[in-house]
This record gives sequence, C-alpha cells and structure tokens, in this order.
Amino acid sequence: MSHPICPPPADLLPAVATLLAQAQASTSLAEGLSLAEQAVDLASSHGGHRDIAATSHVLCYFLYRSGSVSRVIKLGETALPRLSEEAMTAAYAEVLRWVGLCACDAGDFANAIKYATEGFNLAQASGDQRARILAFSLLGGCFERTGDPWQGERLLRQGLQLARAQDENYPLVATLNNLAAILIGKFYSLRDSSAASEADEALQASLPLAREVTQRAPLLNDPYFQTFADGNLGEILVHLGQLDEARLLLQRALAAAQEKGFDAVASRVRCSIAEMHLAHGDTTSARQLLIGLLDDPVTTQTVSTSLRAYYGLYLAHRADGDSLEALRALETFRRIENQRTLQQLKARSELMVTRIEAHENERKGLEHAYGIVQAHESRAVALERMAHEDELTGLGNRRSLDLNLPIMVEVAVLNRRPLTVMVLDLDHFKRINDAFGHAVGDKVLVQIANILGDHTRPDDLVTRTGGEEFVLVLPGMSQHDAFDMCERLRLRVSDFPWDALAPNLAVTLSAGIASAPAYDAAMLLERADLAMYRAKRAGRNRVAVGPVATGP
Ligand code: GH3
Ligand code: MG
Ligand code: MG
Repeated sequence: MSHPICPPPADLLPAVATLLAQAQASTSLAEGLSLAEQAVDLASSHGGHRDIAATSHVLCYFLYRSGSVSRVIKLGETALPRLSEEAMTAAYAEVLRWVGLCACDAGDFANAIKYATEGFNLAQASGDQRARILAFSLLGGCFERTGDPWQGERLLRQGLQLARAQDENYPLVATLNNLAAILIGKFYSLRDSSAASEADEALQASLPLAREVTQRAPLLNDPYFQTFADGNLGEILVHLGQLDEARLLLQRALAAAQEKGFDAVASRVRCSIAEMHLAHGDTTSARQLLIGLLDDPVTTQTVSTSLRAYYGLYLAHRADGDSLEALRALETFRRIENQRTLQQLKARSELMVTRIEAHENERKGLEHAYGIVQAHESRAVALERMAHEDELTGLGNRRSLDLNLPIMVEVAVLNRRPLTVMVLDLDHFKRINDAFGHAVGDKVLVQIANILGDHTRPDDLVTRTGGEEFVLVLPGMSQHDAFDMCERLRLRVSDFPWDALAPNLAVTLSAGIASAPAYDAAMLLERADLAMYRAKRAGRNRVAVGPVATGP
C-alpha cells in the first residue's frame, strides 16, 4: 500500500527504523498506530532528537487517520519544533497540515489559520507541486471551517486546477475529496438560511466531484480514501434523496471505517445513516443511532459532526411529536453552534487585526500567502488558456474569457487593484475577405494575434471571442494607462506593413475599453462592447472609453 506520507530519514537507530518501516507497511490502522507508538517510546528512551522527530511524524499520521484530533494537536505541537531543528522539511510540512486540519476540527481556528498560512508559504518555497496542491486544501479547509465556505471553495478550485494539470492521482483525489467536503459544509451552513438555493447548488456541485473520487480512489489502493469517498458520496446522495444508492455506499463505508479504525469517518457515516432513516420516516432508528453516537464516550467527533447529530436528533424528536426532547436537542445544537460562531468570529477578527497592523512578521507571512494565491491564479489562468484555445490564433477563446474574467475580477477586488477590459473589432473585415480571399483574412487574424501578444504581459488574458473580435483582460491596468496602450496598439495595426501579405491590403481596428472599479465582470464587458460600437459609429480606426458604470 502506498502511504501518502514522506519516508523517514536514513540515519535513525536501526531498531527505530525497523519499527517505522513495519508501521508504514501495515495494512491495519490499529497495528500501525501501535507500532508507531512503540517507535516513539523507543526513540524517547534510546534515541536522539532525530529519532524522536521522525517517530513523532509517523505517529501523528496514524493518529490523524484514526481521528484522534486532540492527540494530533498535542503531539504535533511538540513535534513541529523538533522536525524544524532536524531540517526534516517534508515531514514538518505534513505534520503542519494534520495539526492545522485537526485544529480546525477542534474549533481552534486561530491556530488553524496560523498553521495553514505557514504551510502555504512553506509549500510555495519548496517548489514541490504536490505540496503546493495540498496546501490549497488546508488553507481552503480552514476558511470553510471558519465560516467562509466561499473563500474555501475558491482556494480548493485553484488547487483542483493545478492538480488536474499534473498527473499524480493522490493530490487530485485529496483535492476532489476536500472540495466535495467543503461544498457539503457549505450546504449545511446555508440550508436553513435565506440562501437555501445556494445551499442546494453547493450540494449539486459536490455530486460529480464525489463521484469522480469514488472512481479514482481505488487506484490509490488505500482503504482510508475508499472509505472517505464512499462516505462523502453517500452523504450527498442522502441529502439529494437518492436513498437506495446512498444506503449501499454508507453501509460499505461504515463497515470499512469500523474495521479499519477510522473513527472520525465512522462518526460522520453514522450521522448520514441516521439522516437516511429520517428521510425514510424511520425516526426510531434515527434516534437510536444518534443517541448512541452522542453518548458513546470513545467515538471521536468533530464539532461539525456533533452539530449534525444534534440537529438530526431534533428533527427525529420533532417528527415523533416529542416537543420537549426536540427543544432540548435544538438548544444543545444552538449552544454548540453559538460557541463555534464565537470562535470563528474571534479567529477572523484576529486575522483581520493581524493583516492590518499587529505582528509584522505574521502580517508579512499572510501578505505573502495572498501573493501566492495570486501567483497561482495567474498560473491557473495560464493553464486554462491552454485548455481553451482558439485554433487559428492560439489565443484564448470565448470559453476561456467566460471562465477567467470573473476570477480575474475577483482577484482585482481582493487586491483592490484596477483592471481593464478591452474589446477590439477589425474594421470592414468582410470587405478584406471579399477583396483578398478568406486565406488572407486568416493570415490577418494570425498577425493581429501576434501583435496583441507583443503588446501584452504574461498575466493579461488575450482572447479571440468571435470571427474578427478580440477581448483583452488587463489586470492592474487603469483606464488611463489602458487608453494609451490601446492607442499604441491601434497605431501598430494601422501602420503595419500589411502589403507584405497582399498588395494594397490595409487593416485597422476599432476598440472600446472599460475599467474596474466597479468590479463586475458582465458589466465591464458590456461597457467595453458599447464603447467599441461608439468607436465604429464615430468613423472606425479609433479607441473609445466606456461610459462610467451606473448602479451600485
Ligand atoms: P465592422 O467594421 O462593422 O466590424 O465590419 P466587419 O465587416 O468587420 O463586420 P461584420 O461583422 O459584418 O463581418 C465580419 C466578417 O468576419 C464576416 C466573416 O466573413 C469574417 N470572418 C469571421 N470569422 C472569420 C475567420 O475565421 N476567418 C476569416 N478570414 N474571416 C472571418
Ligand atoms: Mg468587424
Ligand atoms: Mg465583429
């Protein structure tokens, strides 16, 4: 079985190294856990700092899988400085990720964000693609659990773009899985609110991701992922009302989770099964299952699982007409929810203070992380560009514009930077085709694409959206600068030695530009388009600036 964990260093005490190798080769979580614990004991009594660091790393991994949230946090806090001293960077990054996720699950959002930010910076500095992709999962997961599923989803989608662009299965499965989990989390947090339709959308969007995970997970040959995948898909199907398929998946997931000792996953699955009973109207089974889950002193529950369980219990009692018990369950649900909200608010306010003024170092770290998010966005934009190319010119096509413009606008909002959209349309192109033939027309289009390439930067988006129409998206460019640039572009086209392509050929273009703020992708495009038509009406071969945005 291939463990998603980096190998220990070669220079450990032989007995320690043997135990660690046995632990990692073990197909049983309980056995792996026990071997790792023995390795830690041995390292503490007979080994040096390096042995302690290495064994703590491996034990942390097994604890994480078994869902021992508080033990992961405790062990991780002592292991991290050791791993850092021993320069075991890859192991350090892994422990950081597990501790970060567990801090989230325990509701310690302030620490979770601290770990996630550090992990993000580290992954970036390492240049390791797999680490980078996984860092998006941690940071995104943190945001979702601190009550911002939108930012969480956005980060995971960026991670997903990177994961799809490289062909390693593990980071892709992990990212798909986490994105599906974030969307489910979004569903839970919005389903009772005025944004119920957004909750449904999130649930719908999670389904194809979870299905893809169940198809890909077997390739990893890792029962943990298989169980997680079945559990996630089953959970989604329950809420979508597809109960027959859900039942099979959930039963399989529960059996595997219990057999292998994936306790946190088992708790989640038990909740889903109870929700399935509820959907069938079998309140007795639902109640029994949930009470058993909440009363069980050894089961591991994350805050979100407890919330689900109490909510389910409330629904079951209510359906039974037992309003006293229903109220009691609802009160507990609200109490935990309020506590969580309070912690979320605290963590986010700390994050804000940190960003604005407090500790200079942390602030720099955060800014760096945001900068990286941006860099990844540019990369993602570049990848998208390749996948959505216009065949004739190699530029982006309409789809690439539709996909990227909203993202680029969002990034501009995040950085409070200007952004300009430019619509270019060749003048009387039909006449050119008619007079010189379609083949020459095509060569003109290719040459225009080359000129556009020469006048833009790597982060700009350059698309051919229709026959002889081009749209450019220029991040960081104000309306004033964009006008100058567009004028240079227009002159470059009109002055180009076109008769090299065909004697007497002349080409000009008309352009319209619109800039943000206001940050609204559709409105920017519309304003630029309107400006372009004004340039046409004013006599062509000119640049017009879009009307100032109206409305909010
Ligand atoms: P205007 O200045 O008002 O924009 O006039 P126009 O002739 O450029 O505009 P119109 O929209 O009437 O015509 C666009 C022409 O572009 C029509 C079509 O023959 C030509 N065209 C569209 N796609 C291609 C292509 O891929 N290759 C070539 N050679 N021509 C194309
Ligand atoms: Mg035209
Ligand atoms: Mg046109």
